[in-house]
Amino acid sequence: MQWGIVIGAALGALVGEGVALFVLESLQWTQFFDCLLLNLFIIVLYCLPGLGLGILLASFINHLKPHILIREEREPPLLIALWVFVALNVYAHLLSPLSSVGVPYERNGFVESFYGMLFWTAAKVILVGLIATAAAWLTSIGVQLGWPRRRSPRWRKKHAGWGWIVAVIAGPLLLIVVWVHNLTKLPERLDAPVLKVAGLSSPVLMIGWDGATWDVIDPLLEQGKMPHLKQLIDRGYRAPLQTIKPGLSALIWPEIFTGKPPAQHGLQAFTAYHIPLIGKAFQPPPQRTGLATILRVLARLHLVQARPTSALDRRVATVWELASEAGLKVGIMDGYTTFPAREVKGYLVSSHAYPRLRLAVSGDSPDVLEEAYEVYPPELLVGLEKEYQETASPSPDLLRRLADLNEQDVEQLPELDRMIRGRPLSYLKAVVAHDLFRLRAGRRLWQQYQPDFSFYFLNGVDGLQHYTWRYREPEKSFRVSSAQVKKYGQSIDLYYQWLDEQLAGLVQDASEQVNIVLLSDHGHGPVFLGSKGKSGDHGWGPDGILVLAGPQIRSGASTKNGSPPPHVRDIAPTVLYLLGLPVAEDLSGRILSEAIRPERLQGSPPQRVARYGPPPTLTKPRKSDSVDQEILERLRALGYL
Ligand SMILES: [Zn+2]
Repeated sequence: MQWGIVIGAALGALVGEGVALFVLESLQWTQFFDCLLLNLFIIVLYCLPGLGLGILLASFINHLKPHILIREEREPPLLIALWVFVALNVYAHLLSPLSSVGVPYERNGFVESFYGMLFWTAAKVILVGLIATAAAWLTSIGVQLGWPRRRSPRWRKKHAGWGWIVAVIAGPLLLIVVWVHNLTKLPERLDAPVLKVAGLSSPVLMIGWDGATWDVIDPLLEQGKMPHLKQLIDRGYRAPLQTIKPGLSALIWPEIFTGKPPAQHGLQAFTAYHIPLIGKAFQPPPQRTGLATILRVLARLHLVQARPTSALDRRVATVWELASEAGLKVGIMDGYTTFPAREVKGYLVSSHAYPRLRLAVSGDSPDVLEEAYEVYPPELLVGLEKEYQETASPSPDLLRRLADLNEQDVEQLPELDRMIRGRPLSYLKAVVAHDLFRLRAGRRLWQQYQPDFSFYFLNGVDGLQHYTWRYREPEKSFRVSSAQVKKYGQSIDLYYQWLDEQLAGLVQDASEQVNIVLLSDHGHGPVFLGSKGKSGDHGWGPDGILVLAGPQIRSGASTKNGSPPPHVRDIAPTVLYLLGLPVAEDLSGRILSEAIRPERLQGSPPQRVARYGPPPTLTKPRKSDSVDQEILERLRALGYL
C-alpha cells in the first residue's frame, strides 16, 4: 500500500508540474531558488488538492460500490484518484475559455478570440492528457510493484527499485528542465551606450485617455461635439491604434512607454504577490489559469502579500527615463509603473500620489506625507495637497452636466466618497475628481517646468465605460432600469465632451511648438453579461485611438498609404525620434513615419543604437501598505481583481 501511495503522489506532483509549466511559460525567472520554490508552490496549489480529493472520492466509491472500480481483485484507489485528478484538470481547462470570453457583443474580435481561446484550450487539454496518460501508465507500474499479488516476492524485490527511481528522479529532472528553459530566456547583460540627443529635438506632449474608443468619439465628432479634438485631427493624423490581447491596461501602458512587449517589459498583471521565501514578487499570468483567484484567496488569508504592480516589476526603461537620462526635461502626471518615483530631470507625480493624498487628507494615516516615493522632487507632494482638496469633491454643477441628477442625488454626494457597486453616481464622482486633480495639478507643474516630454494619464473614460455602458445601450445589457437610463444614458458621451474641453487647455499650454500625441491603450465596447458588474469591457483588445498633431506632424496624413496600421508598440520609437533620441534596434515597433513631415525625416533621419541600458536603479520604499491597499481597493471596484 505505501509503495503505491508514494509513487502515485510523486507522479501526481509530476502532473501538477506539467500544469505549472503552462502557468509559468510566459515568465522569466532569473533566480534558481525563486524558480525552484515557485514550482514547488504551484505543485502544491495545483496537484495536492486534486490528488487528495481524488483519493477521497475513490475511497468513497470503493466503499459504496466496490464492483464499479474493482474487477478481479482489490485495486488501490490511487489509480482512480489520479484519473479523477486528471478529469478535474481537463474540466478546469475546458471551462477556462467559457469564463474568459466575457461575452463581447457584436464584435468581429469575438469570433476570432473565441476560437483562438478554444484552440489554446484544446492544445492545453491534449498536453495535460499526454502528461496524465504517462503518469497513469507509470502509476500502473507502481501499482503492480506495490500490489503484486500475482507476483512472487522475488519479482517484486527485483523490480521495485524502478518505481522509486522514476518517482525520485523524474521530478527534479523536470525542475531542472524548467530551470534550463528559463535560463535560455535570460536577457543578455550588455553595456548600453550613454544616451545623448542625436537629432533635431522637438517637444512631445502625450495625453492618455485610457479606454477611449472611436466608436463613441466618431459620432460626437460628426455632431460637432468635440471641436478641440476635431481641430487636432484636422491639422494632424488620426488612426485606430492596434493593441495587445488580452487588453489589460497594466500590460499595455508599459508597452506604450517602453516599446517592448510584456514578456520583455516584465508586467503581466495588475497585482504582484509576495510569496513567503520567494525573493521576487510573482505576477499570475493573464491567461485564466485559476492561479490569480487562488492567490487572491491566499492574500485574503494573509498567507501571501498583494500589492499593485509597479516600476519595481518593470525591467526596461520608459521614454521619460531615457529622455531624462539624455538631459531632456520631463513631466509625468500619473500612469502605470510610475511608482516608486525615480529621480528625473523635471517632475514625476506617480500613481501612488493621489491615494497617498487621499489618506493624508482624510486623516486615516496622518504621517503618510513623510515618505517621498510618490513624487519627484519629494517636496512637490505638500503642494499637491491643495489641489487634491480643491478637486476631491467636484461641484454638483459639473456632475449635473454629466448626468441628469435630481436634488436627492445631489444631497447624497458628500457620502459617496468611494466607488460603490450599484451606485453609478459614486463612480461618476470618483472618476471626475481623479481626472480633475490630474489636469489641475498637471497643468500647474507643466507651466512651471515647461518639459520637453510630458504625459497626462486620464482614466475616467475607462472607469465610466465599464460601469455605465448599460445605460448608454440598455438593449445590449442585462436588466437595466429605465430611471437609471434617463439619468446616466448620456454620461459617457458627455464625459468625452468634458474631456474635449479640458484638451483645449492642454493644447493651449503646449502652443504651436509642441507635438501632441493623444492616445488610448485600448478601445471599449458593451458586454451583455460582464463579470464583476461590468457592462462595458475590452478584454478582447479592441483598437484604441491615436491622434498626432504638431509642428513635426504631417497634416492630413492617414494610414491609407500602404503602411501597416499603427500599434501600441510603435508609440515609444515615434516619440523617441521626435525628441531627437536614438531609437534602439531591439524595440519591437517602428517609427510612424507616414505621420511625420517628410522634411523632418530627411533633415534629421533616425539615429540608431543597438539597445538602451536598464532603467535607473530604484530605492525600494519602506512599506507603503496603506496606499497599496487603497489602490487595490480601487482596482477591485473597477472589476480588475
Ligand atoms: Zn478598463
